Amino acid sequence: MVAAGKGSRLQSKVPKQYLKIGDHQIVDICINMISSHKFCKYLIVVLDKDYSKYYKFKNTKKNIVFITGGKSRHESVFKAIKVLPKNNFLLLIHDAARPGIDHIIIDKLINSLSKEFSGVVPTLPINDSIIKKDKILSSVKRENLYRIQTPQIFSANVLSLKDFDKNNEATDESEIIIKKNKKVKIIKGNEKLHKITTEWDYKFLMNIFDTQNNIRTGNGFDVHAFTKEPSKLILGGVIIDYQFGLKGHSDADVLLHSITDAILGSISMGDIGTHFPPNESKWKNANSSIFLKKSLKLLKEKNGEINNLDITIICEEPKISTYTKEIQKNLSKLLNIKEEKISLKATTTEGLGFTGRKEGIAVMSNILVNIKS
Ligand code: ZN
Repeated sequence: MVAAGKGSRLQSKVPKQYLKIGDHQIVDICINMISSHKFCKYLIVVLDKDYSKYYKFKNTKKNIVFITGGKSRHESVFKAIKVLPKNNFLLLIHDAARPGIDHIIIDKLINSLSKEFSGVVPTLPINDSIIKKDKILSSVKRENLYRIQTPQIFSANVLSLKDFDKNNEATDESEIIIKKNKKVKIIKGNEKLHKITTEWDYKFLMNIFDTQNNIRTGNGFDVHAFTKEPSKLILGGVIIDYQFGLKGHSDADVLLHSITDAILGSISMGDIGTHFPPNESKWKNANSSIFLKKSLKLLKEKNGEINNLDITIICEEPKISTYTKEIQKNLSKLLNIKEEKISLKATTTEGLGFTGRKEGIAVMSNILVNIKS
């Protein structure tokens, strides 16, 4: 794996392979993906000579070797091949500036290699029109043109060290193989394998990978007992027609409490009692939407947004189904998300336990949030 680039086209002091996506440096994302593949016998990582300013070795697996590269990509690949033990291994070459590498593409490359071909490379068609600037501008047919990506795979010993001397102008190893009149197979690549060259590329990939990596779940469970005297019952901010209300310090909206706990749980920030202690008199009879709004504010501070919410109300009485739509609508307003992102269900415990004895209501909420960085 070549990770020796300087990344001069990126407006960053840190070479692109050492930048972070989520919690991991790009070079580590590639190392982990390649070294965890079942066919990986050795991984030679070629770093630039100043790597120590930006990178500390984290991977101590025996079959991973770090070396410093040469002046060009060719010199770097050349140095890496020299380190490899002489054997009939397949050779996989990858640019560390493409953090989208995964086992699916590695498997596809291995499975596409046959006796007929000396190498397999992932490619994508060119969708933009192409013109050539020479003395005059001329158009070029794009139908037979492809963009080449990495990783690329080569059959054992097809690349010799001499080849690198002869072809030091080639931009990648597949070009060397083609110049040797050997056949290279092209397979469909993946936009995910996009190479980080510009600031835009980095931000684009960061957006894609971050939403994948920072999906978090939270769950909330709350129970309140019914009052003995007739009082107002509020669920999800909606007044429900029932003879009893729920006991509690605040307005006892068990549904909003459970959602609040789910949101706080998704960002590991305690529970409703941490932020609104029940012994504080100012929360007496408080509208529970205050608690919900506070948890939403904390989620927003973490750059999080709700993906979806699934709620189950557990009680024998009252009958919830006639209120489902209204509660959903109110939750959508309070949470500022579309109604379709909120699922609200109700069930009984078949006459068993405290809910079965009509002593109170329990609510369970599960939430999925995306944290963007
Ligand atoms: Zn509660």
